Amino acid sequence: MSLEVLPTTRLEELLVPDPDLTAVALSDAARLGGPEFVAEVRADATAVADELAPFTPDRREPVHRESAWAGAAWSLVDAARAELVGTAVPTPSGGAWTVTPARCPVGHPHRAGRVLAGWRPCRCGGHHTWACIEPGPDGRECGAETVAPEPGEDCRGVRAW
Ligand SMILES: [Zn+2]
Ligand SMILES: [Zn+2]
Repeated sequence: MSLEVLPTTRLEELLVPDPDLTAVALSDAARLGGPEFVAEVRADATAVADELAPFTPDRREPVHRESAWAGAAWSLVDAARAELVGTAVPTPSGGAWTVTPARCPVGHPHRAGRVLAGWRPCRCGGHHTWACIEPGPDGRECGAETVAPEPGEDCRGVRAW
């Protein structure tokens, strides 16, 4: 590929070095808060990139701007998701998605087949649980668990660890 055929980057169309990170962040944003939240994330990430890696006076893009934008978008979506874990958000098809944690308390990403979702009845109404079954170096499962909502004072025996 010659340089001449590369499209120029427009201000409102920032390319990112890791397309997965941005794609995942923006699709999660859409699931969590619809088009409004996607627009908010884009605007906020652009503001962060403007501060950390502003365009040069002659409107050229600094090399680290793309990763600054992607990192900002990802952390915004990640924080929103953490706040909504265990709550139901509407889906475009008219259903609801119970927001799941992105990773276990130890930090393992909850990939398919590496997390067990459950429900623990409680006098408060009940709690969602997600147990991490990521195998460690010794072959034993991680076992760290996310509980949502957080058990209150009257919740007994909710936490398994
Ligand atoms: Zn884990
Ligand atoms: Zn409870």
